[in-house]
Amino acid sequence: MMTDLTELTIAEAREGLKNKKFSATELNKAYIAAMEKGRDYNAYVTETPEIALAQAEESDKRYLSGQAKDLDGIPLGIKDLFCTQNIRTTACSKILDNFVPPYESTVTAHLKDAGATFLGKLNMDEFAMGGSNETSAFGPVKNPWSKNIPLVAGGSSGGSAAAVAAGICAGATGTDTGGSIRQPSAYCGVTGIKPSYGRCSRYGIMAFASSLDQAGPIAKDVRDCAILLKNMAGFDAKDSTSVDAIVPDFEKFLGADIKGMKIGIPKEYRVEGLDAEVAAYWDKAADMLKARGAEIVEISLPHTKYALATYYIIAPAEASSNLARYDGLRYGERVNGKSLDDMYINSRTQGFGKEVKRRIMIGTYVLSAGYYDAYYLKAQKVRRLIWQDFRDAFEKCDVILTPTAPTAAFAIGDKEMQKNPITMWLNDVYTVAVSLAGLPAMSLPIGLNKDGLPLGMQLIGKYLDEESVFKTASTLEKDAAFKRMK
Ligand code: GLN
Repeated sequence: MMTDLTELTIAEAREGLKNKKFSATELNKAYIAAMEKGRDYNAYVTETPEIALAQAEESDKRYLSGQAKDLDGIPLGIKDLFCTQNIRTTACSKILDNFVPPYESTVTAHLKDAGATFLGKLNMDEFAMGGSNETSAFGPVKNPWSKNIPLVAGGSSGGSAAAVAAGICAGATGTDTGGSIRQPSAYCGVTGIKPSYGRCSRYGIMAFASSLDQAGPIAKDVRDCAILLKNMAGFDAKDSTSVDAIVPDFEKFLGADIKGMKIGIPKEYRVEGLDAEVAAYWDKAADMLKARGAEIVEISLPHTKYALATYYIIAPAEASSNLARYDGLRYGERVNGKSLDDMYINSRTQGFGKEVKRRIMIGTYVLSAGYYDAYYLKAQKVRRLIWQDFRDAFEKCDVILTPTAPTAAFAIGDKEMQKNPITMWLNDVYTVAVSLAGLPAMSLPIGLNKDGLPLGMQLIGKYLDEESVFKTASTLEKDAAFKRMK
């Protein structure tokens, strides 16, 4: 009997394909069957099995002729924020319900060029605004680790993290504006990296907050993240904020000696609301790195307490501007009215969900005359201070170790979270500062809490120094020996 192909990592599947243990078609069929069986998770909003199989056929031809590419035949799920040519792309918003992009995002184009196959589009918070996938027009994603009550998969890339955890894709794309790759990865016991701002092109990714948005992979382990990121990153003339830097072969950093590396522990991150078990794992992770010869140093990020407020001014400000394009005329859903203005109002009223409207209103407010100086301009200044905090901290250390989120996954429909949106936003306390500073950061699973739910640790690197993040992560991963679900 052949092993369950959906349990293989990308690295393992690639070996199997190269050695003709199974074909790309067989691998894709296994994932398609798993995807259909796993519909209860609500991870996919559009399934494209026929596309995956057609791509797999091409991959098989290349394997036979010895011309296989880096990701040939590897079945991926794509967050529904990436435009995929001729495949419905909705950002999980009603306003884009029937939108079929005529072009491909640069990141997904790279993955296709590398031979990857696309199983479908993954659920997410509407326009990536949220931290629990509950703002999606398609309903929440169910965390595969749920026990008696359904738990959130995290957000906004909840579909991506859940699909990887459940083995209904081999790897996935995600995007991260303030934690959307890292936090769902932590909640679902998988690994995800938000690379340095500019590493991946934003071209063809629907914009939420352009100065923060970054694409990155969510995968079963650190190696798979390295493989995917190499195939996603790269300079793109179509995105003026993409960086013209060499994309290293991240895989070659794995397993490197971390002796003498300095690991920073920010003292301000012992926040109120930090779960005791998360705190204990944080200490344990530091001990593991120390046992490998790294040096643990206390660092200070003094402006941490302003990070959430700063993020929740800047992100909505940019969102309100970016989302002005959804007017009922150019894309997606139109709801007619008596006049042109009525049509705009009706389309936006019915097309956008509550959280998106909240962000548009906050954004419009902080950008309006009279409030611009008090909120937006001030937030930009504090953003600079947060950036400087990290710059100073990195004088003393090579990477920073923190929890990814203060708690494990919570219940879908959690009352406290529903009552007050701020409670939900507080969850982003460890991830938003990194985004404001444009730094690379990875979340990897460290262990289970007493309820059997996965917890994640975050490793933050200097700008464009994904190398140190991968190095440290691969060591920590080995010592944590987290048992994946699939
Ligand atoms: N949870 C954060 C927010 O709601 C981050 C979302 C993201 O990174 N896209 O804005």
